[in-house]
Amino acid sequence: MLIMFGWVKEAKEVGPALDCYCYRCHRKRTWEHWKETEWVSFFTIKTIPFLSKTHVVCGGCREPVQLDRERANFLANREHLPRLAVFLEERQLAGKSEVQRNYMRAQREQNESRG
Ligand SMILES: [Zn+2]
Repeated sequence: MLIMFGWVKEAKEVGPALDCYCYRCHRKRTWEHWKETEWVSFFTIKTIPFLSKTHVVCGGCREPVQLDRERANFLANREHLPRLAVFLEERQLAGKSEVQRNYMRAQREQNESRG
């Protein structure tokens, strides 16, 4: 008898996560909360949820940022959202040089003062 095991990946939108600046769009965006679940499948039928990941995705440019478990919990509590916004900024500016970071932050201030 042939038994087929496999993997099924499923992503679904949970809802809006937070509003904060996107360094790719250069403007304030609503970020969406997405949950991705990997299932063990058995004859293409989903059986065991194997692991799940939480992402926030920019509603403008669709840039996804994966959250670890601790930060995913921030989504449940509005008081923690500013900490999540700081994390998104860090992630979006990761790998940039100090000069680029300063330039992007200055650009942000300019955009925000324009409203
Ligand atoms: Zn964006």
